[in-house]
Amino acid sequence: MRELAMLDPRGAARDPRPGLSGVPSVDLAAWFEARGEPAFRARQVEHAVWAGSASSAADLTTLPRPLAAAIDEAFRWSTVADDTVITADGGQTEKALHRLSDGTTVESVLMHYPARAGRRARHTLCISSQAGCAVGCPFCATGELGFERDLDTAEILDQVRSAVARLMRNELAGGKTGAAAERLTNVVFMGMGEPLLNLDRVLESVAALNDPSKLGLGARHITVSTSGVVPGIRRLTALGPQFTLAISLHAARDSLRDVLVPLNRRWPVAEVAAAGRDHARATGRRISYEMTMIGGVNDTDADADAVATLLRGDLAHVNLIPMNPVAHTPWRASEMPVIERFAARIEAAGIPVTIRRNRGVEIGAACGQLAAERAGAPTAPAVARRRQRLEAESAKALHGERSDEPVPAGVEP
Ligand code: SAH
Ligand code: SF4
Repeated sequence: MRELAMLDPRGAARDPRPGLSGVPSVDLAAWFEARGEPAFRARQVEHAVWAGSASSAADLTTLPRPLAAAIDEAFRWSTVADDTVITADGGQTEKALHRLSDGTTVESVLMHYPARAGRRARHTLCISSQAGCAVGCPFCATGELGFERDLDTAEILDQVRSAVARLMRNELAGGKTGAAAERLTNVVFMGMGEPLLNLDRVLESVAALNDPSKLGLGARHITVSTSGVVPGIRRLTALGPQFTLAISLHAARDSLRDVLVPLNRRWPVAEVAAAGRDHARATGRRISYEMTMIGGVNDTDADADAVATLLRGDLAHVNLIPMNPVAHTPWRASEMPVIERFAARIEAAGIPVTIRRNRGVEIGAACGQLAAERAGAPTAPAVARRRQRLEAESAKALHGERSDEPVPAGVEP
């Protein structure tokens, strides 16, 4: 068996066999055809891959044994191993730590929302598109890790398959969470990484999630969040509506956004909003602007007014999310009354706004706050230096000075 991850958990060579979920249907069909197998075999295997109960081709009793062995020899049934699943919020939030074949780890978060008056239960999965992230937003645990590597299509999709399988097991176990006896309803690319810096793979993944013979999830139930990679947004606009686009705004003033979203030094906020506006116009789909609310940093009246000025008249919606505490920053979430005041000022400008409570705070499973455990935490002096630097930078930014720090390496698509 080629379980490389089990032999050497970090830095192992990647298993060269492609993950089955990432193989386009035509290529899979061609593989079977080349072996002289009937065409229905490819569909049968594809169906089993997405049905969620098998863990290798060998589990499929309907396949001839030599064929099953050949499939397992050529492909990986899954590219992720669920090393740990931690639950919080009374079972309503599950964080899964996935180990990839080269020992890299990424995380996904499954959130159960019970049925409420007139609304069906929802099960939303937040997935990672990269291991680590090059953008380096200082309030984000993934950003602190730095960039490790892009995930391939199967590695993105297999996080989804893992959640589908867990939902099925919950159901079989009698609905442990009380809300799990249903299918996955939403997928959000808000885990580790910047999806628009791995856009080809993200688009392939979305196509598979959409495909009725695979997951069959409607485009309206898929959200991709970007920190503002303008060329990526423009590319999506040219493709037409594929999913809901969320843009992580965090600040509408360049000086502050330079600090909070370092790629603002490359694509300033007005360019990001212009790309968002064009996207909304071309697709007819509202853009969701996300703001992580940080006490005394981006929650002032002046910031609210800047957001209102930036987005006034746009097909946009603003989502305010209290910052989840991340160990190595000097910052805390804004107080709720401050967030409510901020929301009211934006709403007064005619822009719809909602305040979202984060899930899984106690297990560090808030979507977008993921940083798979790594060896060696930074030393205390390094953390103190980082805090001091962030305090100085954000204080400078509040006075309107632009950052003179370089654009982070690796953010050009
Ligand atoms: N890189 C993309 C998608 C992943 S991050 C992006 O930045 O949009 C997904 C969301 O989680 C972003 O809106 C991000 O700002 C938010 N996030 C990151 N760290 C957070 C924290 N500590 N508290 C609250 N939200 C956070
Ligand atoms: Fe990357 Fe998004 Fe985290 Fe910023 S918030 S560092 S873009 S994952």
